[in-house]
Amino acid sequence: MLSFAFLFRALITLALAAHVFYMYCLARTIDDGVGPSAGRIAVASLFSLVMLIPFAWAITIPDLPDIYARQFRGRRWWAAGRCASCGYRFDDHATRERCAECGEALVEPEPYAYSGRTARRFAVILLFAWIIGMGVGEAWIAADEATFAREVLVTPGLDRPRRWPNADRVLREP
Ligand SMILES: [Zn+2]
Repeated sequence: MLSFAFLFRALITLALAAHVFYMYCLARTIDDGVGPSAGRIAVASLFSLVMLIPFAWAITIPDLPDIYARQFRGRRWWAAGRCASCGYRFDDHATRERCAECGEALVEPEPYAYSGRTARRFAVILLFAWIIGMGVGEAWIAADEATFAREVLVTPGLDRPRRWPNADRVLREP
């Protein structure tokens, strides 16, 4: 189900993947070699992984939808005699056990707290961002190198800058 929270986390994943893509491309072309050698891929993978470390501050950002739903909306609803999950209003709020509307237990929501779930969620996001960013980065560079290989057939001895974001590196006929 495409909930707002899911889309929010997908957006964070894509933003981090874009960062990984950029870092991967920078490291992948650093030796001016052409082709996906194991060494180049290893260096670029490791570099793009290490460059995710500065984003450790963002660990609770993927929890923002939960923080809102529980800490703000949920507690406000609860205080107003409503179900903290769906907002349904009950006259017998104090004695009822489950919400007749959504089936959730009718208990006062706990305040938001950092938990292992927060860390696991962020680790999964980083993992997806890393894999997506590396995959797109490698495909991007491979496509540029394939284009160059065709260009060299037409113009032997050609050299030209790589495609963005590696325009400072030059592709040469090997
Ligand atoms: Zn409910």
